[in-house]
Amino acid sequence: MAKKTTGMTRRGLLKKGAAAAAAGAAGLLTASAQDPAIVPRRKFRAWISQGDGAGRTKLREVALRPISGRQVLVRTEATNLCYSNVGAVLGIQPNAGAPAPASALAPPPGTRRMNDMAVIQGHGGIGIVEAVGPEVRRVSVGDRVCVSGTPQCGSCYHCLRGRSDMCQFLSAIGADDLVAIADMSDGTPVYENSHIGGLAELMVTNEEWVVPIFTKAATVELAMVCSCVSVAGLGATASQGLAAIPTASSVAVVGCGPLGLSAVQGARIAGASKIIAIDPIRSRREVASRVGATDVLDPNVEGQNLVARVRELTSWPGDRLWSGGRNPGGRRPGAGADFVVEAAGAEQVRPKLEAGPDPTGILPMQQAYQMCALGGHLITTSLVRGNITLPGNLFSIGGVTHHAGQAGGASPMRDIPRFVRMLESGQFDSKALATTVVSLDGMIEAYEQVAYRTTVTAIMTA
Ligand SMILES: [Zn+2]
Ligand SMILES: [Zn+2]
Repeated sequence: MAKKTTGMTRRGLLKKGAAAAAAGAAGLLTASAQDPAIVPRRKFRAWISQGDGAGRTKLREVALRPISGRQVLVRTEATNLCYSNVGAVLGIQPNAGAPAPASALAPPPGTRRMNDMAVIQGHGGIGIVEAVGPEVRRVSVGDRVCVSGTPQCGSCYHCLRGRSDMCQFLSAIGADDLVAIADMSDGTPVYENSHIGGLAELMVTNEEWVVPIFTKAATVELAMVCSCVSVAGLGATASQGLAAIPTASSVAVVGCGPLGLSAVQGARIAGASKIIAIDPIRSRREVASRVGATDVLDPNVEGQNLVARVRELTSWPGDRLWSGGRNPGGRRPGAGADFVVEAAGAEQVRPKLEAGPDPTGILPMQQAYQMCALGGHLITTSLVRGNITLPGNLFSIGGVTHHAGQAGGASPMRDIPRFVRMLESGQFDSKALATTVVSLDGMIEAYEQVAYRTTVTAIMTA
């Protein structure tokens, strides 16, 4: 029987532990053992939004504040230019006729208005840890990390029951929750979108948002697979966080932006036998075919027949009575998809390529529900403007299970390292999605391409 596995005695280990605990206690008050020297008032460049309207986001040099507590300083390698930030970055109003998003409504009295604050936009990216606050445990200086779009504290009710996409920290990103991390030359305090930013040479965040990823993967490809959109698309299909897609299932993906195209890939990785990709933009349908879709549909061409077309495509010769058929007793043609991932969402601006049939995103959401097989699963991921109406009896007894969540239900610490392995193994194709790559200086022009959908998505390297 092996009594000792190291060269140290039990008493020696205890002594060492006591010494480490003492150092840790001192670290809470002063500096931790892994806290390197931080250049005081270190200067860095950041895209900062302030005020209203076009031109609200400018590249500025700012001075870093000291970090503390659970804060982590990350040197940005790259970040994705997410469509959901188009309005905030470019100062573009949503399409006329659509109700204003909640973020544009007046805040409750006594709270500050996000638009009046100087805010580094973006929500996440990849980079290298340069410094950690004395309470940080999850990462060390030098680690390559993903700064995740969603946090995972690991100890709240949601994290503990396996729904870290709903982590308690997620709701602490309002204007009054943000903490200044830098100052402009005139003394204006600088904050970050969602405590993370990304459109800057540095990110300061709390360890709840940081995932160590231990990889040497190429920067742009890594930034793509670690982006909020790819994590959500893979989360919906390959994380099993919300719904587990069994091998040989049929899957429909409604909307083929970077999130939907990641879901197409996740469905392929999960072993789906039929993957129907739906998008009005021809070039996006072509990408979908390249990354795993078996069929593509244009909602503008299909019109009212879109749902019926999906049912038709998910039929098979065995769809008859007594033979394992899936359609309802032969009375309704077609089966419907076992799993549908909805990834369309509301337009923030009218696209310069083919526009979809409904700028509010509501019609694609309703169709996504109705194209599910009886007993199928719908996973929704997008933001729409307005309320959804569904046939009551289908909703009530049609057997469709609706899965809703942040980031496709992905659990950052569990799933992001797995998604990185999918890139490294060649299962996930980042290059097909990162169709625009720019440096920090080219950010605005690249964001316009994202806004007008003339590119699939853009990666900014810092
Ligand atoms: Zn995003
Ligand atoms: Zn949590």
